[in-house]
Amino acid sequence: MKVLIVEDNSLSLELATTVLELAGHDVVQAESGEGVLELARDCRPDLILMDVSLPGKDGLEVTRELKTDPELRAIPVVAVTAHAMAGDQERVLAAGCEGYLTKPIDTRTFAQDVQRYAAAGVPQTEGGQSVGRP
Ligand code: MN
Repeated sequence: MKVLIVEDNSLSLELATTVLELAGHDVVQAESGEGVLELARDCRPDLILMDVSLPGKDGLEVTRELKTDPELRAIPVVAVTAHAMAGDQERVLAAGCEGYLTKPIDTRTFAQDVQRYAAAGVPQTEGGQSVGRP
C-alpha cells in the first residue's frame, strides 16, 4: 500500500520510511503540515501517518482539515506522538484520527501496526458522531 508520512524530524522520517519500505510499502514523505491536503489529493495514500508535533500547523490541525474534506476524509489517519500522556488519546481521536502510535516507534511491530490500521479503515459515521460535518 501507499503511506503518506508527515514528520518534521528527519531521523524519525527516515526510520519510519525504511521500516515501511522493507515491509513492501510505497512511502510518500512530507516534512511539514503545509500542503499535505494537496499532496494527499495527488498521491492518494491508503493511510496517513501524522506526527502530532509539527512546526506551524500541527498534526491535529492538519487532521481536522483532512477530515472535513469530502474527498480525503476516508483516508485513515494515524497520529504518531511522543507524548504518551493521559488526555492525548482523547485529543488525537477528537481531531479525527483513527488511532495513534507512540514514538520512538517499535521497528519490530510498526509495519504490522500500520497495516492493521489501514485494514480497519475509517468507520462509517452515519449516526450522530461524525467529525466536522455541518
Ligand atoms: Mn515533530
